[in-house]
Amino acid sequence: VRWEKDTGWHDAQVMPYGPISLDPAAAVLHYGQEIFEGIKAYRHADGSVWTFRPTANAERMQRSARRLALPELPVEIFVESLKQLIAVDQEWVPGGEEASLYLRPFIIGDEVFLGVRSAHKASYYVIASPAGPYFAKGVAPVAIWLSTDYARAAKGGTGAAKCGGNYAASLLPQEQAYANGCSQVLFLDPAEGKYLEELGGMNVFLVYGKENKLVTPALSGSILEGITRDSILQLARDRGMVVEERKVSADEWKQGVASGDITEVFACGTAAVITPIGQLKGNGFSVGDLNAPAGAITLALRKELTDIQYGRAPDRHGWLVRLA
Ligand code: PMP
Repeated sequence: VRWEKDTGWHDAQVMPYGPISLDPAAAVLHYGQEIFEGIKAYRHADGSVWTFRPTANAERMQRSARRLALPELPVEIFVESLKQLIAVDQEWVPGGEEASLYLRPFIIGDEVFLGVRSAHKASYYVIASPAGPYFAKGVAPVAIWLSTDYARAAKGGTGAAKCGGNYAASLLPQEQAYANGCSQVLFLDPAEGKYLEELGGMNVFLVYGKENKLVTPALSGSILEGITRDSILQLARDRGMVVEERKVSADEWKQGVASGDITEVFACGTAAVITPIGQLKGNGFSVGDLNAPAGAITLALRKELTDIQYGRAPDRHGWLVRLA
């Protein structure tokens, strides 16, 4: 779907997948004016195809658009674009436990000019890619690298937006994570470098087992408002758990694990749903045991959420929208 400052959104079309041509002076290539979303289509046992909380993704993309000075795409166009893409070929959506079609909506500023200002032309695209189960051999805990050298966001910056630039900033720390045997980076807050923010592509939760309590970093203005995060908070409340959205430091994590108060830690996002975190490593320290099995609450929340997404449990919060 194309957008121009004077005429708004127009010319929606479904095209065969292939390269898009951009002028070398297109704004996105120079000033990073790009935002995106990640959402999945799930096939239920009766063959129908559903997606999960698309309005939340559409609204988040509108907030990202405002921060990146891009045009806001109406929620209805967002949802309709997913339906039309699925309608081309429903066979794209794989069946089976935990398989899905990953959908990647994005907007780029593609006006041709070299001055620094927001583009007066933009384009919205959606591409799709079938995804198998994230954990082919069962849900296994991962090790996470605590980045004290780099932050992914700054006060007043774009941390709460889902824009490509944030991910550009996280690639080098991600390489550090790999070099240290970890699969993802955990970033600390940009102001004090003390409080947990989020992983490169997931939000983080600590489970205080004895207190039946779930703690997650509050939305600080610099972390992404994960839709999985929000859904887990709801499911935890439904289970009668105490939920706290607040500042939580890396020290609290270390001490909580040592004292036995923190019994499980997990990360969550659309791609992996919930990933148990077995170990936190950083410059000169390590907490947790990668060989310990995934925790019971982690697995229970993961099952509850995937059961709703795949139509195996009642959709009691009205989260699912039918695509086909
Ligand atoms: N934080 C970041 C930086 C992310 O990229 C993602 C993935 N979109 C998340 C958190 C989790 O968000 P969601 O649950 O909406 O996928």
